[in-house]
Amino acid sequence: MDADVVIVGAGPAGLCMARALSGRQLKILVVEQQAQASIEQPAFDGREIALTQKSAELMKALGLWERIDASAIAPLRDAKVMDGPSTYAMVIGHELGKRTELGWLVSNHLIRQAAVDSMQQAQKDHGDITLLTGVKVTDVRSDADGGTVTLEDGQVLRARLIVAADSRFSTTRRMMGISAHMHDFGKNMLVCTMAHDQPHDFTAWEWFDYGQTLALLPMNPDPVTGLHRASVVITLPSQQTEQLMQMDAQEFGRNVSRRFQNRVGAMQLVSTRHAYPLVAVYPDRLVATRFATVGDAAVGMHPVTAHGFNFGLLGVDALVKEIEVALRRGEDIGNPMLLQRYERKQRRSTVPLFWMTRLIVEIYTRESPPAKLVRQVLLKLGNQVTPFKRSIARSLSGMA
Ligand SMILES: Cc1cc2nc3c(=O)[nH]c(=O)nc-3n(C[C@H](O)[C@H](O)[C@H](O)COP(=O)(O)OP(=O)(O)OC[C@H]3O[C@@H](n4cnc5c(N)ncnc54)[C@H](O)[C@@H]3O)c2cc1C
Repeated sequence: MDADVVIVGAGPAGLCMARALSGRQLKILVVEQQAQASIEQPAFDGREIALTQKSAELMKALGLWERIDASAIAPLRDAKVMDGPSTYAMVIGHELGKRTELGWLVSNHLIRQAAVDSMQQAQKDHGDITLLTGVKVTDVRSDADGGTVTLEDGQVLRARLIVAADSRFSTTRRMMGISAHMHDFGKNMLVCTMAHDQPHDFTAWEWFDYGQTLALLPMNPDPVTGLHRASVVITLPSQQTEQLMQMDAQEFGRNVSRRFQNRVGAMQLVSTRHAYPLVAVYPDRLVATRFATVGDAAVGMHPVTAHGFNFGLLGVDALVKEIEVALRRGEDIGNPMLLQRYERKQRRSTVPLFWMTRLIVEIYTRESPPAKLVRQVLLKLGNQVTPFKRSIARSLSGMA
């Protein structure tokens, strides 16, 4: 065997998987199609990731949290949900949870930087990880004896276990014959950082407006100018996103201030803009012979409930725990029972919120007069039912 575990993809999930497996007498190979430089110095990609308290704990255990500058970690105190042009909001306060904040917000490129730095440290400490960059996986096969991963340069790697962390559009998952439920919402999400006049009080907004869905994710004030800052997410049909991407910065600022009805005052663009297609994916199986999916390859969430990477970390934790048990018992790390236990656990953690998110989006993007009425009524009802709001607070904090 060339390795015990081959991980396909050095995104945040693949890097965390490698880091978590390190130090266990396993030979780990990570294969990534992007160049070494884009993995070692990840560029800003517009995403501000809402992390649960549980994710913060897992990131501390993996040595990621301490690598992120404290000034770049913003508390998520409260969250509010709004509907249509009304200012009425359902408020999910931190007091419904167990901490003084529901969770945290950190830029995706800083998470990726912390993940690669932590993995490289593990590589130095234990010498058990090899990162192959700039090369694509073109074929994956497995049988009861082992798995093979073929690279575009012709190399063939043999391993006891193959872990796919190659995004929601995972080609290795397809190569293994795993079908997936895929829903294309036909929209894009434009994300960027905006400075604004009024404070956000560290409250995240999810605003199901008519014709657009807006989110405002609180960030710490700009360290140089002291201006209030937030990550803004605008969900629109792709042609409209394209128009916004092309606008000059001043016009864009005015446009976004209008979209937000000046509720945080005038807004000004202070970063590059990035657009992502909105596609939710849930595979029919998370594992196959000597093969497991993690990260977005295992569940590709709609970002509205902010759980993609949070689920990615839960999956890494669940799979590594199963591998630890196998190693303690002297069992094969690719055995089918282990993989099935991982699949059951990961499904239990992710299936309910995946479908609940789909339902919320379905209801809150309908715009016929009866649908608008249902939206308002549901929001008002939800706001009055404390156990319901407590369950949302638990989901946002990731604490049972
Ligand atoms: C706008 C937006 C907002 C989000 N907000 C949140 C949030 O608030 N909270 C949250 O938890 N999550 C959020 N997410 C989700 C989060 O960003 C993802 O869950 C996470 O980045 C997925 O990481 P990953 O490592 O699984 O996949 P990716 O980051 O997609 O990495 C996959 C890697 O695999 C590599 N790869 C693919 N195919 C191959 C191949 N054949 N060979 C070799 N390498 C390959 C790719 O180059 C890539 O580096 C958001 C996502 C978006 C788009």
